Amino acid sequence: MYRNRNGLLLVVSGPSGVGKGTVCKALLERLETMRISISATTRPRRVNEIDGVNYFFKTQEEFETMIEHGEFLEYMQVFGLNYYGTPKAYVEEERRNGHDILLEIDVKGAMKVKEVCPDAVTVFIAPPTMSDLKTRLYGRGTENEAAIERRYKEAFAEIQYLPKYDYVVVNDIVDRAAKNICDIIEAEKSSIKRNSELIAKYSEEMNEQ
Ligand code: 5GP
Repeated sequence: MYRNRNGLLLVVSGPSGVGKGTVCKALLERLETMRISISATTRPRRVNEIDGVNYFFKTQEEFETMIEHGEFLEYMQVFGLNYYGTPKAYVEEERRNGHDILLEIDVKGAMKVKEVCPDAVTVFIAPPTMSDLKTRLYGRGTENEAAIERRYKEAFAEIQYLPKYDYVVVNDIVDRAAKNICDIIEAEKSSIKRNSELIAKYSEEMNEQ
């Protein structure tokens, strides 16, 4: 069967508390061949997180050395505090091998990826309502009130980026949101702009007849 040569680069963003992580997990369960890129960060590890699984936890010095060596596809200082970045080598290699790859990154990082990889597909995960988002942030219970309020404020700024995305998916029901993203992936893979080789193959065959 005909396959696109390069894997699809899917970029998912959305405000903290919207349930991005849960939707992405449900998506990966549906799409066994999709790989997730593990970001590097200087933010402190949370109790339930594992180095090399959730993030590659780095010191500021280690992260800055990676920047100097050009090891990131994109990197950002999120919330003006901690660095977060997408290691380039893994993404490029997986795509070359035809594997679709998922990046779960912030809005500025997503815009940067779209700039350097215009064929990336960007999806914004939105909450059903803003008050719903606030409830979810408080319900998560991983941070103090000041941090939660800061993340809620940040959500307003992040939602300003929504019109710049290719797609929006409202996370009302996790499975539905994951299915929506699967449908987006399928539609993108069938798009004419991603099938120039197939079109060229038909032309070639027709010329031979
Ligand atoms: P958290 O600290 O809750 O894990 O993540 C904070 C924010 O950083 C989230 O919006 C998350 O999507 C974003 N983030 C995680 N990894 C990366 C990355 O590699 N690059 C960028 N730009 N943002 C990231």
